[in-house]
Amino acid sequence: MISTSKKINLLNLSLKELASFFESIGEASYRVDQLLKWVHQNGIEDFSKMSNFSKTLREYLIENCVLKSPKISLEEASNDGTKKWILEVGNDESIEMVLIPEKGRNTLCVSSQVGCVVNCSFCATGKQGFSRNLTLSEIIGQVLIAENSFRSIDNPKEKNITNVVMMGMGEPLLNFDNVVNAMQIMRHHSAYNLSKRKVTLSTSGLIPEINKLSNVTDVSLTISLHAPNDKLRDILVPINKKYPIKDLLKSVKNYVDSFDDKRITTFEYILIDKVNDSLEIANELANLLKNYPCKINLIPFNEFSLSEYSKPSNNRLRAFKEYLVKKGFITTIRSTRGDDIMAACGQLVGEVKDKTKRKERLKRQVKALELNA
Ligand code: SAH
Ligand code: SF4
Repeated sequence: MISTSKKINLLNLSLKELASFFESIGEASYRVDQLLKWVHQNGIEDFSKMSNFSKTLREYLIENCVLKSPKISLEEASNDGTKKWILEVGNDESIEMVLIPEKGRNTLCVSSQVGCVVNCSFCATGKQGFSRNLTLSEIIGQVLIAENSFRSIDNPKEKNITNVVMMGMGEPLLNFDNVVNAMQIMRHHSAYNLSKRKVTLSTSGLIPEINKLSNVTDVSLTISLHAPNDKLRDILVPINKKYPIKDLLKSVKNYVDSFDDKRITTFEYILIDKVNDSLEIANELANLLKNYPCKINLIPFNEFSLSEYSKPSNNRLRAFKEYLVKKGFITTIRSTRGDDIMAACGQLVGEVKDKTKRKERLKRQVKALELNA
């Protein structure tokens, strides 16, 4: 018998690679659709149950292939219905994903990396340092696990994942190919059949990758802006030193303009108390985006240990929002979900074998501060 490790994990193959795989064993390309339906729409991962496959094909797949997603190590539910999973990805490392049920929709927040190199000053994932990119099976496996959570033997599936946001751990554009291939499966009619508006990629702003994105996908793009000028953004989102705001806005405009569906750009803006939440800064933001068709999504800073920042008062939040609304911007405040189980934006940490040694340095700095206090 062939050992599991030698077997091909079919969840690691892109749509194109799946087609080549079936071709290489003398099977027609429609097998891709059939396989996607079994796995993603019916939750069947046992090849012997794939009844529209010939006996020979079933036997070949059992001998040579597996369908392997990350292993669930913990599932937690928040008081507000948000669910968080901790998933093992080998080498004693883990990632987190979050499901946010709302009226009429179920949004899954998916991770793309174990940690993150970008190291934004307000983000718990960034503070964990970085270990590696997730594989395709580890990304699409998250969607499969969440979708399977709606299935049970007694109850036919009533709910579905309706939206996916690439807003979990990591910078998705730094894991370009695996993220794009996973989003293609999310979009595929025989898998999750999500429209371009229902799959959102959130980025801290990597210009070269944004520039090549429209060649391979048309999903919604959200930009984590967080500051209206380079001086402040350099501190909050360090990658800004390499890709400053003016160039970033140009590149995002090119992405949006490459489609003729009249879409507008969403800018995420975390509000951090006394850092980027004054009305002067709101005015600067309004001036920066005044000719830019966009929506501004304000996110109250979610607190976590190891961060010196805090969340603004409700009055400051409201004043910032109202200022932008008066200036004519569509502005929303994202409600904080799942913070009682540390599942809110920016609170996802997983277990990261930090290759950047950032975590160690940070712990030393905090200890030194405590000793000096
Ligand atoms: N790396 C990508 C996607 C993951 S971060 C990005 O930066 O866009 C997903 C979202 O969570 C981003 O908008 C990010 O700015 C936000 N976020 C990170 N830390 C946060 C915190 N402590 N409080 C609130 N939002 C946070
Ligand atoms: Fe990375 Fe996004 Fe966190 Fe910045 S906000 S450190 S890019 S995950």
